[in-house]
Amino acid sequence: GPAVEFEGVSFRYRESGRNALHEVSFGVPARGLTAIVGPSGAGKSTLFRLVERFYEPDSGRVLLYGADAASMPLHRVRRLTGHVEQDHPLMRGTVRDNLVYACPSAGEDDIAEALRLVRLDRAVERLPERLDTELGDGGRGLSGGERQRLAVARALLSRPSIVLLDEASANLDADTEAELRGVVASISRERAVVTIAHRLSTVMEADRIVVMEDGRVRAVGTHRDLMRRD
Ligand code: ADP
Ligand code: ADP
Repeated sequence: GPAVEFEGVSFRYRESGRNALHEVSFGVPARGLTAIVGPSGAGKSTLFRLVERFYEPDSGRVLLYGADAASMPLHRVRRLTGHVEQDHPLMRGTVRDNLVYACPSAGEDDIAEALRLVRLDRAVERLPERLDTELGDGGRGLSGGERQRLAVARALLSRPSIVLLDEASANLDADTEAELRGVVASISRERAVVTIAHRLSTVMEADRIVVMEDGRVRAVGTHRDLMRRD
């Protein structure tokens, strides 16, 4: 069955009184890339927060592998999901140090596997932030694309089955974006990957696209289905 199912989910932020979601229903298959597309304020990030159970729906249900997230232990919900945080700061030290710091319970195997998946396996001893005082071979800093992939590796450390990726906040050049897309396509072969994007044009390769506007689902389909509709 699907990794995530939103069943008639409505949600209002108490703090602002904003109705962020209105009876949202759609499914995220257990394998493949699902893209949520829509303008700022459409409710995309709110969907992520409900999947990770930072909030619970006012009505409707969020199902994770068929079980209501609201009745699952929180640690189980968090173990199922990995969130790629774009603006997570890098610390001094090696790529390995950064991963251990992000997830102290991760073992060498988890680190090796996460780096392999993002094609950074040979970078484990590199220093993401090269300092001028650190000369020599080990001192090469990471490029923007490598940092991006390190952010993905960080999210993969706990071996989540559902990966949430916020592309909308990333400011990537064309090469970096292509690298990241390659990695995302390959990791989505074995797990559910959900990505947020502002524009349809950046998620051509998604297996399923969910178009959101004003807290509502406007359309669901492949890129081709959605182009035909316009
Ligand atoms: P994005 O388009 O990437 O979602 P926004 O500018 O809409 O960016 O939001 C930036 C941040 O501000 C988000 O973390 C969002 O949750 C938060 N935010 C947006 N609207 C409000 C609000 N009315 N009250 C409090 N926080 C908000
Ligand atoms: P998107 O990710 O599509 O930009 P959001 O899910 O961030 O949209 O926001 C949906 C609606 O909820 C917007 O009206 C936004 O202002 C509001 N909102 C988002 N985050 C918060 C928050 N933390 N507190 C209050 N209102 C918020």
